[in-house]
Amino acid sequence: MLRAILVVTILSCPGVSAIAVDAPWKVGVARVNISPELPIWLSGYGARNRPAAEKLDELWAKALVLEDANGNRGVLVTMDLVGIDRGLSLEVCRRVEEQYKLPRASIALCTSHTHSGPVIRGNLAPMYSLDDDQARRVKVYSDQLTDRLVAVVGDAINSIASSRLSYASGYATFAVNRRDNPEGKVPQLRAGQALVGPVDHDVPVLSVHGADGKLRAIVAGYACHATVLDSYKISGDWPGVAQNEIERRHPDTIALYWAGCGADQNPLPRRTIELLNQHGREFADAVDATLRGPFTPIPATLRTAYEEIDLPFAPLPTRAELELEATTEPPQSRWAKSVVSGYKSNSFSWLGSEDSGNG
Ligand SMILES: [Zn+2]
Repeated sequence: MLRAILVVTILSCPGVSAIAVDAPWKVGVARVNISPELPIWLSGYGARNRPAAEKLDELWAKALVLEDANGNRGVLVTMDLVGIDRGLSLEVCRRVEEQYKLPRASIALCTSHTHSGPVIRGNLAPMYSLDDDQARRVKVYSDQLTDRLVAVVGDAINSIASSRLSYASGYATFAVNRRDNPEGKVPQLRAGQALVGPVDHDVPVLSVHGADGKLRAIVAGYACHATVLDSYKISGDWPGVAQNEIERRHPDTIALYWAGCGADQNPLPRRTIELLNQHGREFADAVDATLRGPFTPIPATLRTAYEEIDLPFAPLPTRAELELEATTEPPQSRWAKSVVSGYKSNSFSWLGSEDSGNG
């Protein structure tokens, strides 16, 4: 009787035998370095007045391919970048579909929103004042990036192996509502438990274990800006530190990060390397806590969907209002000037291509 109870206990313990026998998914994962050649203009802040000439840490793109028990596939691509434009997204998806037979509805392209990554094509273009050399460097980098994103999806497909998926939710508190809490007062407000405003401190985690029970990949997100740094050095900011830390703690694992709905959230306090590392480690700690359980296994059924929706414009500014705005401070004045000159020439070249927008 005692022996029977022990057998049942071991089989029902997710940390031991169940992992080795239950791997209904097929999963592939790969990464590629996407650090740009220097110097290059950094994205995210309109106030920068020169390109970056140094690198604090490497930038990565990573791909996770999931295949369910019926052979349905989907791919998640994450990038240590502030964002990409619609034109680049269309080009990557077109080539992924052509080369790997993955339709648009099976592709998710996500960025970490680091404010210390390079400008990409037309993304946020009116925020920056690029000379011809910098515009050329951004174009060369964006083309290389496109090639690397397509290639890393292929690398992930080539590494497909039986795996188990599970999910859990962790918790990290360094995201602070930047609309409702003056940045200078955050340490004091935090100490007094007086921070206010909506936040989402969940850290949703998807973990991938191989049929041998080893951790192969971690996918985690958080609703927070990646704005600890505001320097002239390339960096993945706190998500970069977090992914490196997870991969250091779990060798042979690839960590992927996607930015949640955190435009009104900042990692506070910030601006120092110590705080960069502190926030990154807090995120890695939150992920590790989920790995210690409890977690929920995910049945091998995948369904993907993609839809584009029309959003109505707010009332558009008049030509006179735009011309007035063009006399104000950058980056708003640069945006207004670019729209006015676009109207004059009937060409909005900063959009990157005829079907580009600011993604
Ligand atoms: Zn931002």
